[in-house]
Amino acid sequence: MNTLIVYAHPNPKSFNAAVLKTVTDNLSENHFVQLIDLYADNFDPVLRFDEDHPRRSLTEDPATQKYRDLVTWAEQFIFIFPIWWSGMPAIMKGFIDRVFVAGFAYHNTKTSLEGHLSGKAWIITTHNTPAFITPFAQDYGKVLKGQILKSCGIRPVKINQLTGIEKISDQERQKKLAKIAQTAKKI
Ligand code: FAD
Repeated sequence: MNTLIVYAHPNPKSFNAAVLKTVTDNLSENHFVQLIDLYADNFDPVLRFDEDHPRRSLTEDPATQKYRDLVTWAEQFIFIFPIWWSGMPAIMKGFIDRVFVAGFAYHNTKTSLEGHLSGKAWIITTHNTPAFITPFAQDYGKVLKGQILKSCGIRPVKINQLTGIEKISDQERQKKLAKIAQTAKKI
């Protein structure tokens, strides 16, 4: 299975980096893995278009071609990122803005969007809010799952929210990594 990991964290020694390593170390040999490390790539998250560079031309933007090729290649997506201000980091949002563009990832219908992509997805997020509050929180990965990936045709989408991450003990964090390892082995 062609598996594309899209990862956003600026610190290679972060807990998110440990999540990434746990996933890549535990995926079975059935996966052909490609990684998009947005900070390592120095990805420019700012979407730009105007009269001279119309929005419809974004489907052929040479700056994002390699990412569109990877998205087309992928049969399974794994997104790994921390929750910042209730949602994904700006660099991840900019990746979606610039790569999942109209005409490539979806087209507009009278009432909604019709997706052009396929495959399934696994989203892994980390945050500090306790687990009992998370189900009531807006976004926290749910926007990527429901409004973005599903609208573009990617489903089913599973989310693992690693909660309270800076507040729990080292041992509890290790348990969370062990659960991620178990899931990675099974997908
Ligand atoms: P790190 O800070 O790298 O690590 C967290 C802890 O894990 C540290 O104690 C570290 O020593 C330890 N650790 C590192 N590696 C390992 C390992 N291999 N095994 C065990 N322990 C390890 N949170 C919310 O809930 N809601 C918000 O809206 C929100 N907004 C934020 C906005 C901003 C701009 C920022 C910077 C943070 C925000 N946060 C919010 C908190 C944020 O979600 C957490 O800081 C983040 O998820 C922690 O992940 P990290 O990879 O950065 O952890």
